[in-house]
Amino acid sequence: MTRTRKKDKIDRECIPAKWSCANNECNAVWESSATWVSKVKVENKISAKDLTKRDYAKQKCKKCGNSDNNLEEYPLVIKKLIYEEKWYRVYGLWKCECKNEWASAYTWISLELYKNITPVSELTEHDYFNQDCKTCKTNHDIKDIKLTSYRHLRRRNQDKLPPKRHMSEHCEKCQKHKKCQEHKSSNYPIL
Ligand SMILES: [Zn+2]
Ligand SMILES: [Zn+2]
Ligand SMILES: [Zn+2]
Repeated sequence: MTRTRKKDKIDRECIPAKWSCANNECNAVWESSATWVSKVKVENKISAKDLTKRDYAKQKCKKCGNSDNNLEEYPLVIKKLIYEEKWYRVYGLWKCECKNEWASAYTWISLELYKNITPVSELTEHDYFNQDCKTCKTNHDIKDIKLTSYRHLRRRNQDKLPPKRHMSEHCEKCQKHKKCQEHKSSNYPIL
């Protein structure tokens, strides 16, 4: 019986990671805020040393050009991490019961939970700031709105940041805590 080789369709998640070059003559190590790792492996907290090359998308070494390198460690709390008090800013996907879906680069989740790569299904309403659906507005109970996934913020331009301004009127953090765009966010001090 012959089997046709299907293209890999691995569901991957974007997380920050540390890499090293696999070329013995090159000693490059780098941090990447966007490393794509198999979602199943991430959820099961499989450590980087137990991953196979199939579990993550390759990265090229910028020093020597070697294309097949080693993922050393993940997730990595990197310098660019934006946080305010115990809240960490991520790129989140949201869904309302009315079927309206949206993405928000002003999604804030608990820093501790982020560091433990807690799956979104295990987050409770106290672990992130809610957002309101602009389609339903106040006709809806805010509990019918869910954060369906989140990931590390990528460099500007790569993420569709809110066009001109953040919709503060639909953001629980802006309403009840501090305004998202006025905060003095800090970069996480530890690498
Ligand atoms: Zn290299
Ligand atoms: Zn809605
Ligand atoms: Zn806000």
